[in-house]
Amino acid sequence: MRAMTRHALGIAMLAMLSLAHAADRKPNVVILATGGTIAGAAATGTQSGYTSGAVTIDAMLAAVPGIDKLATVKGEQISNVGSQDMSFDILMKVARRINALAADPKVDGFVITHGTDTMEESAFFLNLTVKTNKPVVMVGSMRPSTAVSADGPLNLYNAVGVAVDPDAKGRGVLVVMNDRIHAAHSLTKTSTTAVETFLSPVRGVVGIASYGKNDFYQSPSWKHTTASEFDISKVKSLPRVDIVYGGVDAAADLIDASVERGAKGIVIAGVGNGNMNKAMVDAAARAVKKGVFVVRSSRVATGFVGRNVELDDDKLGFIASDELNPQKSRVLLSLALLKPRKAADIQALFGAY
Ligand code: ASP
Repeated sequence: MRAMTRHALGIAMLAMLSLAHAADRKPNVVILATGGTIAGAAATGTQSGYTSGAVTIDAMLAAVPGIDKLATVKGEQISNVGSQDMSFDILMKVARRINALAADPKVDGFVITHGTDTMEESAFFLNLTVKTNKPVVMVGSMRPSTAVSADGPLNLYNAVGVAVDPDAKGRGVLVVMNDRIHAAHSLTKTSTTAVETFLSPVRGVVGIASYGKNDFYQSPSWKHTTASEFDISKVKSLPRVDIVYGGVDAAADLIDASVERGAKGIVIAGVGNGNMNKAMVDAAARAVKKGVFVVRSSRVATGFVGRNVELDDDKLGFIASDELNPQKSRVLLSLALLKPRKAADIQALFGAY
């Protein structure tokens, strides 16, 4: 055998051995804890009032028997807030931490514990800013850790089950709650109290998680993670983007106020297909003339907002949100405005992400 061939054979055998070793070892999962009801506590198990973000990640893990059989789990406390107080600062910290840890071949996946109130936009933000194919799974709960039938422990168990599943790789940031696996692009919170609060009404779920075993039905088709062009590695803060709600006789001067307060972008949570009353259309057109980007989204829970359907976006300079609801539109517009772009380029982003 020629020396070169022997050398190549040696390398191939070493690679096979290390692959076999990787398959043999227990997977390593890093849990980044941010707070929420999953870390919430109440004085009794049957009361509705509680404080979210009161329990540490170590205490949460102690309440999940058998989680150590799925993976070697290491917890890091990034913050401990109700997700009503989630900020882009905290989210950028989470994204950067994942991006740093993802380079370690010994880390197989990530779980982020988070409140449910703003879970959908945080998931979408991370979907666009983490740069790894490894599973990144967000999880929360609707009942605090002290409640009778708390849903957090099984949700956390299932989230780790997804984070160690090689089938979860490359599907972008996922959210696991109530035995369902959702894509960051598609899920939305639909009930203030029910454990089945998260739905992916337009596209359906990505799969089912059941006691650490998973069935995947589909892969999200939008750009995310490693294919995303958004890089927050050096970003200090995001530009201000406000959401203004439409409705009967809705006040248009909120749009002017937003511009005066320094918003670089405004998302309209419009009626129907991203529509708004005449006064709001005029105010939004004024905002565009001042260099503020206006995205038309909808207060309606499902469906698309298309260009030039009832309003002449080409003439008015508006952007249609496509499938993104107002809160996710705000995330995408904030990231898009990190560099100078034309409205047409931002419109293309709304089709791609
Ligand atoms: N307010 C809580 C939060 O989002 C609600 C929850 O987690 O379900 O942090």
